[in-house]
Amino acid sequence: MRYDLVVLGAGPAGEKAAAQAAYWGKRVAVIDRRRQLGGTMVGGAVSSKTMREAALYLTGFRRRDVYEVGLDLAPETAVERLRHRTDDVVRLMTESAAANLRRHGVDVIHGTATLGPDRAVMVRATDGGEPRVVRAEVIIITTGSRPFLPPGIPFDDPDILDADTAALLDHPLRSLVVVGGGAVGCEFASIFTALGAEVVLVDSGPRLLPFMDWEVSDLLAATFRAMGMRVLQGAGRASAARTSAGLQVELANGEILRPEKVIFAAGRAGNTDSLGLAGAGVATDERGRIVVDEHFRTTADGIYAAGDVIGPPALGSVSMEQARVATCWAFDIPFKRTVDPLPPFGVYSIPEVAMVGLTEEEVRSQGIAYGVGRARFDQNTRATIAGSTDGMVKFVFDRDDLRLLGVHIVGETATELIHQGQAVIHFGGKIDYFIHSTFNVPTVSEAYKYAAYDGLGAVGR
Ligand SMILES: Cc1cc2nc3c(=O)[nH]c(=O)nc-3n(C[C@H](O)[C@H](O)[C@H](O)COP(=O)(O)OP(=O)(O)OC[C@H]3O[C@@H](n4cnc5c(N)ncnc54)[C@H](O)[C@@H]3O)c2cc1C
Repeated sequence: MRYDLVVLGAGPAGEKAAAQAAYWGKRVAVIDRRRQLGGTMVGGAVSSKTMREAALYLTGFRRRDVYEVGLDLAPETAVERLRHRTDDVVRLMTESAAANLRRHGVDVIHGTATLGPDRAVMVRATDGGEPRVVRAEVIIITTGSRPFLPPGIPFDDPDILDADTAALLDHPLRSLVVVGGGAVGCEFASIFTALGAEVVLVDSGPRLLPFMDWEVSDLLAATFRAMGMRVLQGAGRASAARTSAGLQVELANGEILRPEKVIFAAGRAGNTDSLGLAGAGVATDERGRIVVDEHFRTTADGIYAAGDVIGPPALGSVSMEQARVATCWAFDIPFKRTVDPLPPFGVYSIPEVAMVGLTEEEVRSQGIAYGVGRARFDQNTRATIAGSTDGMVKFVFDRDDLRLLGVHIVGETATELIHQGQAVIHFGGKIDYFIHSTFNVPTVSEAYKYAAYDGLGAVGR
């Protein structure tokens, strides 16, 4: 079997690489070891976001303070409905990935792929049998990542979970410890707090979401605490074990916690182990991630890689863009040659967090004379009506020419709101853009205008 392109892995990166090449007339096959297409984007990202929406809806979480009533569903019923909803959305998104590949005439081959010589790919069916051999002019590796499992933790214990198994929880929890204050840890910790569990979030570092602006990290931790979560920062390494007294989580300071479940959200590791990379001349770094150049070429001729398998930022959004760009370079398609250097980052915790551009720490360390403007949602009419007053919009801008350099948001719909800031930064806009344009009122977006006024005031304009 000969193709112009064979893609290894049908997650978001693989699907978009395959569709892009097929759209430009190439004969394409995509191989995935799972029957359910969509990779971690469907199984992890989409399912955790659906859990979040369902948890907010079923518990009336934000509305409880406003209307003094919650939806008093029995916890078992709430979790059962949440599970159904999550399963439905996952099924729909998997079907949508399969339909996109079908529409583009891409062959989907089920089985585990290993690289052979001269751009041959061996595909072993999950139920065994002789491997099939598929050959291609170009191979793109998009085999993604899996949870990094810290050594010494017995993950075969049913109460000790990782980021993938946590998304499968199907009964209400009394208590939960989440280890890891990154995006996935913050999401699960806040979802289960909304569902009524007693949650402890343990982070080894001094700040949640350390890649975010310092003020955002601090505000998120304060909001989590106000929701009733116990947030332990700078807590060192936590360990977990099963003892005669049940599940036990031990913190670096010796404190023992006895939750019903623990989730370790300790980062990701590349899915490269069984790909036969060394034999094919594809180099990896010390963490097993595939090394690529700016055109997503690996060290082997005709073999490209994109998505989580090449390392950070390990986001579905960026993975898809990398894969499209890799395809364009591989076939010299004059369409999309670079990945946006200013991607937004979104964290779907409760409340959401999002950023684009530079943080305050970054502009300070680059020696840029900067100003800061803020608008808090407790002064925003729409947020007040909705009862979602936690959070703020923060601008970081050049104080000499007022150019917007970074936007940082905590609050509901932060992951949507951030795109206005992204557009203004992309076009080299200044913060007074927000002052001179008229906004619908009442809207949460209005916070942009008041962050701009605050910024102008702060630099004496
Ligand atoms: C809980 C959670 C929440 C997340 N939330 C977000 C979010 O809100 N926004 C966001 O942008 N990102 C989010 N992410 C990250 C996002 O899911 C990943 O960045 C994205 O899925 C990476 O895409 P990919 O195509 O590179 O790899 P993957 O999605 O991991 O897909 C890789 C595919 O390759 C297949 N495969 C692996 N090895 C082989 C082999 N040898 N042979 C055949 N097939 C193989 C796998 O079965 C899989 O289908 C989240 C991740 C997690 C875990």
